[in-house]
Amino acid sequence: MSMHMPLALLPAAAFGLLIGSFLNVVAHRLPARQSLSMPASHCPSCETPIKPYDNIPVLSWLLLRGRCRSCSEPIAVRYPLVEAGTALLFAAVVAVHHADTAALVMGLVLVAFLVPIALIDLDHRIIPNRLTLPAAIVGIGLGIALDPGGQVGRLIAGAAAGGLLALPALLRPTKMGLGDAKLVAVMGLYLGSAVVPALFIAFVLGTVVGIGIIMRVGMSQGRKTAVPFGPFLALGAVIAVLVGNEIMSAYLGTF
Ligand SMILES: [Zn+2]
Repeated sequence: MSMHMPLALLPAAAFGLLIGSFLNVVAHRLPARQSLSMPASHCPSCETPIKPYDNIPVLSWLLLRGRCRSCSEPIAVRYPLVEAGTALLFAAVVAVHHADTAALVMGLVLVAFLVPIALIDLDHRIIPNRLTLPAAIVGIGLGIALDPGGQVGRLIAGAAAGGLLALPALLRPTKMGLGDAKLVAVMGLYLGSAVVPALFIAFVLGTVVGIGIIMRVGMSQGRKTAVPFGPFLALGAVIAVLVGNEIMSAYLGTF
């Protein structure tokens, strides 16, 4: 990282705040099949349209102390957290990949899809095709445009990883949906071979959290507690965007 890098991260973070603000809208409206653009943002409690100066990411929430200006009902802390988290991730992707346009653009776009996918899976236990399908199309398009030489590898990674996760879903269709498999295919289309550490991280984190839940509530109750896997996959993918190549070369260097 060069001396000027921290300064260059400010516009990346500001851009991330704006995108994060939009991703909140996507996570909120897309599952309800509402338009993403109309109407403009309004208070979920009193429906009052939110003034532009009250709609500044993170800052407005802090200035209004997490309450609507009209009705004083609390506004969930998740909104500024998603905005700040997206800003942080965008800055991190720029810090890591500023010298590699393909990795930079594809990393930012993948993060922008992963945030609403993880939130919607947490809220509704579903990974909508309306996100994974455009994510796949955009990923293939960007790959061909920015890094044609790596495209075959990414297609193979997407098909192999997605196919691997689709297998149990197809064998036992009632237990697990295909949404996770489609998400993993998308991850492969963006990450290439780095989808391997992404999957590994997701399975380890998912298992640790699963064991944690069983230890807290007991085996019989814990097995019934359905924890969506999408957020773990998204977390694994984000880590792979940032350090996936390092993990792969460290691992391959070991043997
Ligand atoms: Zn209100």
